[in-house]
Amino acid sequence: PSQLNGSYTFDNYIEGDCNRLARSAGLAVANKPGTTSFNPLMVYGGVGLGKTHLVQAIGNHIKATAPERFVLYVSAEKFTNQFIDSVQRAQVQDFANFYLQVDALILDDVQFLANKGKTQEMFFHIFNHLHQSGKQIVMTSDRPPKDLQGLEDRLLNRFKWGLTADVQSPDFETRVAIIRNKMEQDGIDIPPDHVVDYLANSVHTNVRELEGVIASLVAQSSLSRRDIDLEMVKQALRHIIEEVEAEVNLDFIQKTVAAYFGISVELLKDKTRKKEVVTARQVAMYFAKHHTAHTLKTIGFHFGGRDHTTVMHSVQTVSDLVDSDKKFRDQVDELRKKFAKN
Ligand code: ADP
Ligand code: MG
Repeated sequence: PSQLNGSYTFDNYIEGDCNRLARSAGLAVANKPGTTSFNPLMVYGGVGLGKTHLVQAIGNHIKATAPERFVLYVSAEKFTNQFIDSVQRAQVQDFANFYLQVDALILDDVQFLANKGKTQEMFFHIFNHLHQSGKQIVMTSDRPPKDLQGLEDRLLNRFKWGLTADVQSPDFETRVAIIRNKMEQDGIDIPPDHVVDYLANSVHTNVRELEGVIASLVAQSSLSRRDIDLEMVKQALRHIIEEVEAEVNLDFIQKTVAAYFGISVELLKDKTRKKEVVTARQVAMYFAKHHTAHTLKTIGFHFGGRDHTTVMHSVQTVSDLVDSDKKFRDQVDELRKKFAKN
């Protein structure tokens, strides 16, 4: 299986100033894999800006025009896990042989290989072999190659052999085009210009977020059987803004509590079980529970990936201590004033 998702195509990848070079390089590579000077092709940029979409589109295009080619899409994370697995089963040679047969290798989120020396070594080997045999290599990264710390120089040097192109946040016109395209794909009527413009003006961080709002609008309009109007857009946006604000609050709570106890925010999220840290962490979780709308699960996630029972236990511990320990209660009350507005 190629791991390609057929819904990512060049047709539905909206072109704009933000992605023009990456897109046209991608199309060139897709038309002539392995034979252009864009080998490897490295696409980099922030989250939700269309890297995966673009490289999947390359794979799908190759597959559509040359079905006999072995095109393989794999995330660097999966590549790593497969490799580790093969080491454990003493099947490294099989692992390597599999990748050496590929005609076009698409490795997504290569930053994941950072500090994984053995996996990098394996990828280096595969890379060299494929490149020498005129096979195409496409990669993505969340940052420019020069900032890929933890990747070996010899690998980074290879990346320079081809073309590196970035994708940036979409400008207004591109956002409008993406909104229209997406709504058309979802089979709903495109709202009037002023509604689309309002939406395009409100979300400019990344395309994934924009798609999130569109999806909720589409769901709403089909539920209420009415066309998308400005009120619906505002409603959907309010939802998102609330989420963002809640996140800011969580951040603020962590910073404030950490500072109060004289420790770093990192320690709050750390595994440390030192008494002062544990207390500070429990207090921060307590405020997170009482002063944000987040679920226990989300709170745990923001405290170094702890589960919801840990958060529940912390909140309970703090409540009990507030009841039984006067000095502790004074401390918590002092902190509470800082969050009172929330
Ligand atoms: P990344 O891999 O950079 O984090 P994705 O490729 O997963 O981002 O893109 C996030 C979402 O936005 C996907 O659903 C993708 O289809 C969509 N998207 C991103 N850029 C575009 C674009 N230029 N045109 C259409 N859809 C896009
Ligand atoms: Mg991606």
